[in-house]
Amino acid sequence: MKYIGAHVSAAGGVENTIDRALAIGANAFALFTKNQRQWQAAPLTPSSIDGFKKAMARAGFLPEQVLPHDSYLINLGHPEPEALAKSRDAFLDEMRRCEQLGLCYLNFHPGSHLGKIPERVSLKLVSESINWALEQTQGVTAVIENTAGQGTNLGWSFEQLATIIDGVEDKSRVGVCLDTCHAFAAGYDLRTQEGCEQVFDEFERQVGFAYLKGMHINGAKSTFGSRVDRHHSLREGNLGEAVFRYLMPDPRFDRIPLILETIDESIWREEIAWLRTLAG
Ligand SMILES: [Zn+2]
Ligand SMILES: [Zn+2]
Repeated sequence: MKYIGAHVSAAGGVENTIDRALAIGANAFALFTKNQRQWQAAPLTPSSIDGFKKAMARAGFLPEQVLPHDSYLINLGHPEPEALAKSRDAFLDEMRRCEQLGLCYLNFHPGSHLGKIPERVSLKLVSESINWALEQTQGVTAVIENTAGQGTNLGWSFEQLATIIDGVEDKSRVGVCLDTCHAFAAGYDLRTQEGCEQVFDEFERQVGFAYLKGMHINGAKSTFGSRVDRHHSLREGNLGEAVFRYLMPDPRFDRIPLILETIDESIWREEIAWLRTLAG
């Protein structure tokens, strides 16, 4: 069973996301539980939380079909103590929002060393940030996303993802989300069936499918190995279709949210339908 959907808008309240997912034929979705470009947000209201839970139940969606994404401002590997503390507080708030909504995942970009501390030190801070947030919450898994490796962003290699996981104490509440566009831009060649086999074998060796909690299903405007993060529609751009043909029938990608962050939301419905035909 494949859970396929897109990152839908939470405009007007998180309780509106479920209908937006259903409208595009999705049985999975991603959302921001607050404005992703601001540090502060009003708490979720009881009526919003209640509306969200009721809509989830009506749609028959399980928590594992939803992959909330945190704010882009958060840097859990920040080299400066004050800024790191601010990021950690914001991350904890995001975890608590997921808890309140009865959700089980929070997807986030690991962080950035900003050229001020060595990579391994920053990676260690990311692990410690996760530990700190997990200790204060329950039932929500921290889902680390692989990045394109743009600038000083960490988490573009499977090795770095494994290093972060290694530093997390509660392994039952840490996972990863793989973004096809980011992997391709970071130098993982997913353009052919053979390439996909090699990349996912390497993923199994270095990280392990047991940690795979979601995927971002994106085409790439970026070129191979460019370390640039630019998504495209699935059937356009430089990545090609092989990776989607590889993923969809493969049971290792069952029962995790497979989320479109492609650039033309007017064709999300068609993209989801196409992925379902590939899944068979
Ligand atoms: Zn992504
Ligand atoms: Zn991206």
